Amino acid sequence: MYGQIFISLLNPGIGLLFAIAFFLLWLNHRERYVAYAAWAYVATAAAFLIQDLAPVLPMELQRLPANFGFLLTGMLFAAAIIKRYALPVPWRAMAVTTAVSMAFFTWFLLFQPSIAARIYSISLGAGIIALMVVRALWPLERPYFIDKVLFWVASLSALNLIIRPLVILYLGGGFDNYVGFQQSVYWTTVQFSQAMVSIVAAISLMVAVAIDMLGDLRRQVNDDELSGLLNRRGFEAAAGKALRRCADEGRSAALLIADLDHFKKVNDTYGHAVGDAIITAFGAHVRAAGPPGMIAGRIGGEEFALLLPGAGIDAARQLAETVRIGLAPACGDRIPATLCPTTSIGLTIGAPGTGLSALMHEADQALYEAKRTGRDCVRAFAPKPVRFAAGI
Ligand code: GH3
Ligand code: MG
Ligand code: MG
Repeated sequence: MYGQIFISLLNPGIGLLFAIAFFLLWLNHRERYVAYAAWAYVATAAAFLIQDLAPVLPMELQRLPANFGFLLTGMLFAAAIIKRYALPVPWRAMAVTTAVSMAFFTWFLLFQPSIAARIYSISLGAGIIALMVVRALWPLERPYFIDKVLFWVASLSALNLIIRPLVILYLGGGFDNYVGFQQSVYWTTVQFSQAMVSIVAAISLMVAVAIDMLGDLRRQVNDDELSGLLNRRGFEAAAGKALRRCADEGRSAALLIADLDHFKKVNDTYGHAVGDAIITAFGAHVRAAGPPGMIAGRIGGEEFALLLPGAGIDAARQLAETVRIGLAPACGDRIPATLCPTTSIGLTIGAPGTGLSALMHEADQALYEAKRTGRDCVRAFAPKPVRFAAGI
């Protein structure tokens, strides 16, 4: 008897602990999927409490909200996983499934009482909701281990919910009365397997939240908000990695450094906000114009670096020209073309194995040449001819 009470407290206890944990996580990472997970655990705790610890209530008053709570848990948990991938949550399909499940459940509670049929109604409903998660996640790539884990949690839950009642009812037969049900192998197994699923699901989602928070931090450290490109630190890290790969594969790489002309005057004449808008437009223009493998960053106030792994001089020149002439149209109607500065670009090609600092130095020299020869142009780095002493 006491053992049964402890088992009964297992799921509400786990549910409440995880609900608190997810609320605390949500306070630090205000994503809706984290809030859904917290509410899912509130719902599961409430449902198990009502089901097991409220025999004082009339049976219908207890059973209906408890089983609605189980389905609500399924819906909220499904929403949490689906929302993590920024996919549309199938609320309507889940609500219809819940309503149909509850209708069958009510029928087999009030009009044609059958515990076995009630188990099928709720378990199948929750299983169908879990299948909706599987369906939503199915087409996605699962690049990280945690993505695979979440997919398998949903798949195994669906399998568990759909197959478990069939197997156990087959083994253990029906239940004559409610006390028999509560002490049955079936209900004890549900409580244990549910506790296990609860723990595995919560830990997986918590790991997912931690990974997402780390990703956010990494983006904050490496990204430049104004231009939408990498910042200097992010550019150096990504470019260094790409150059090492180029060296391994024996490929060359091109580096472009672009600098907006007389930008100080733009700021002084039209205000800092206009300057900022131009930097944003330039970033968008570079992202749209560059090839897929390009690594682009804002490495200074109005200075940008573009690394093209594998590119030769022709491709580099072509992109440089596109970037140079494209800023005015990219500013569109937000900034009149007359306010839009021109762009000077220096570029260089590095043989396989050339490091980033050497490339930056060469591209900088070419940029200096572009500025010196009138701005609004592209110059490629050319090594200075070696001067020999007269007479040799
Ligand atoms: P040059 O053609 O020789 O490159 O002249 P310049 O005026 O563009 O170059 P300079 O280095 O003298 O000035 C760069 C200016 O860029 C100074 C600063 O006002 C502006 N700037 C730097 N960062 C930002 C930014 O984040 N937003 C805005 N609006 N302006 C910035
Ligand atoms: Mg400038
Ligand atoms: Mg500059």
